[in-house]
Amino acid sequence: MANQTAMAPRIGITASSGDGADGSYNQRVAVNTSYVQWIERHGGLPLVLPNVSPDLADALLDSLDGLLLSGGADVHPLLYDTEPHAKLGTIDVPRDRFELPLARRALARELPILGICRGIQVLNVAAGGTLRQDLPSDPAATVQHAMRATGGPTAHHRLSLVPGTRLGALLGTDPVAVNSYHHQAVDRVAAGFRVAARAADQVIEAIEGCGERFLVGVQFHPEVMPPGTAVSEALFEAFLTACGRPV
Ligand code: MN
Repeated sequence: MANQTAMAPRIGITASSGDGADGSYNQRVAVNTSYVQWIERHGGLPLVLPNVSPDLADALLDSLDGLLLSGGADVHPLLYDTEPHAKLGTIDVPRDRFELPLARRALARELPILGICRGIQVLNVAAGGTLRQDLPSDPAATVQHAMRATGGPTAHHRLSLVPGTRLGALLGTDPVAVNSYHHQAVDRVAAGFRVAARAADQVIEAIEGCGERFLVGVQFHPEVMPPGTAVSEALFEAFLTACGRPV
């Protein structure tokens, strides 16, 4: 009988360059454990990727069945040929240097990709798109997208899935309530991708590849919601299935 664990798809999870909280630590490879837990619960083998030289991207991708681009700091706007806005947030230099080439190589070799928060932004920039740099100061963004809440995870605003999209088929046509921890969003959608969901103020909340391959970016955080949350379960299940997990 085949060993289910040996057949588990290997999912690379990108990481932030974290500093120790009190300044006394060396730099860290930082990933919220919720990403790891959702991949594990859906039958994947989670592998955290440090921000190494982009020269190692192909060798790392050789050992992966799927790529999860996780949340994190703002992408440097020069990477999409734009000057930095006055309200641009923190930049993660080692991460930009590694993750953009990694995402481009993953796109080139047709690996399934799930991008979350910064991840949808990295996916869009890697494919040639652009970003809105600061929604709170953007008069067109009338919904609060940088939520603050105490007492545990909760949904914050609704989004509408675009009919005829992969995500629309997956999540249904009724509005879905999601959390929202972002101050940036996709602006011009990269060639080869399409909008899959928008908030009530038309801010882009999800994009997907136009082809057959699973290439999905979401602006909310499915991994922050409790196990059993329908939208999160559906997204991770579809991603791990696309990565070849035995059904
Ligand atoms: Mn939002």
